Amino acid sequence: MAISGLGVGLAADRLSELLGLVTSQNPFQRRRLEALDLGDDPALSDLPPLTKLELVHDQERNPPFGTNLTYPLERYTQLHQTSGTTGPPLRVLDTGEDWSWWRERFAHTLTVAGVGAEDRVALTYSFGPHVQFWAAKEGLQEVGAMAIALGGMGSTQRLQTIDEVGATAIWCTPTYALRLLEVAVEQRLESALDSVERVLCTGEPGGSLPAVRARIEEGFGARCIDHAGLTEAGPFGHPCSEGHGLHVDETEFVCEIVDEDLRPTAIGERGELLLTPLRRTGFPVLRYRTGDVVVNTEKRCPAGHEDRWLPGGIVGRSDDMVVIRGMNVYPSAIEEAVRHASGSGEFRITFYSEPSGLDEIKLEVELADGKAARELQETMRRQLGLRVRVVPVTPGVLPRHDGKARRVVDERTTKWSGQ
Ligand SMILES: [Zn+2]
Repeated sequence: MAISGLGVGLAADRLSELLGLVTSQNPFQRRRLEALDLGDDPALSDLPPLTKLELVHDQERNPPFGTNLTYPLERYTQLHQTSGTTGPPLRVLDTGEDWSWWRERFAHTLTVAGVGAEDRVALTYSFGPHVQFWAAKEGLQEVGAMAIALGGMGSTQRLQTIDEVGATAIWCTPTYALRLLEVAVEQRLESALDSVERVLCTGEPGGSLPAVRARIEEGFGARCIDHAGLTEAGPFGHPCSEGHGLHVDETEFVCEIVDEDLRPTAIGERGELLLTPLRRTGFPVLRYRTGDVVVNTEKRCPAGHEDRWLPGGIVGRSDDMVVIRGMNVYPSAIEEAVRHASGSGEFRITFYSEPSGLDEIKLEVELADGKAARELQETMRRQLGLRVRVVPVTPGVLPRHDGKARRVVDERTTKWSGQ
């Protein structure tokens, strides 16, 4: 089957090679394509977007690895799994060639971020089953930087080690970067972070939210650098070396942005990112629904880089979005407003239903006083058009997070989500 849709060039050649390979060798993809009546000259956009759930169901029916495998099992060298925060976990396999691709893409991200052989990079997490930890270490090795493993330590011990070895960069979630700052202040260890020049953010949208970045950059006296990736689709978003937002290399990924009806979004609008990685062939995904919400623009980044630009990076997750009184609400937008409020600490968002049936939002946030709460309430009304009940709480009482934060509680009686 020939599938067009990209015109000519390197990406088009890679796409046709990938499709040839998967239709001849990959049982899952072949079954999926054959079930479609695509005519003689189908375009990539004729294929229905692929969801994680389809891959999960395939794996449940064909345990333990499923049938999305282009090669015999002995070709595969890596097994990771998704976090399972939005459904059952999925096992994803990589061949040696695919794993080299991960390494190369992470090295590219690090190079753009200005990390090289002279750097000592603190990895403030334990190595679990998730791909980004291992791929980060591979990327560091590729650029010749020193990886400092700080798994299994508490925050104070991590700060002491960062100080002792003179780490020049930290790799963590934006939530944990803010937590580390908080502990540094509590323990009077602020000077432990003096050597840190870069904070590499991963795992959450916060690294691209202006108010979160500003807090990290101010607190660490360092640059905050975002990047994005997904176990199923690979590391797709590298930072803009001079501006904000992320870039996608379109010789590596076919990148589409679609609305709720899975049609291309208008320029300037938000939509879900669909990705087709072109060189990861062992566990391929075509038009994969990432769940990452981005802004569609034709503009070049302010620095004029050629790679496709996602201004504002990942602005939210489609599975985090809730509909309250007919409005799409992203927790990341609420976080941006909270981080912008001076003196604010940890927060928790609760969606709930009033006895009248109306859905409401409660925001508990650590604030110095009631005046700050009123200001925050007003900011959200003005900037987001949202009526939010802001409840100030005493600093230090809300739960702290070491990795990805869980700050949303949904107690609505009837739930409507984005999809
Ligand atoms: Zn750029």
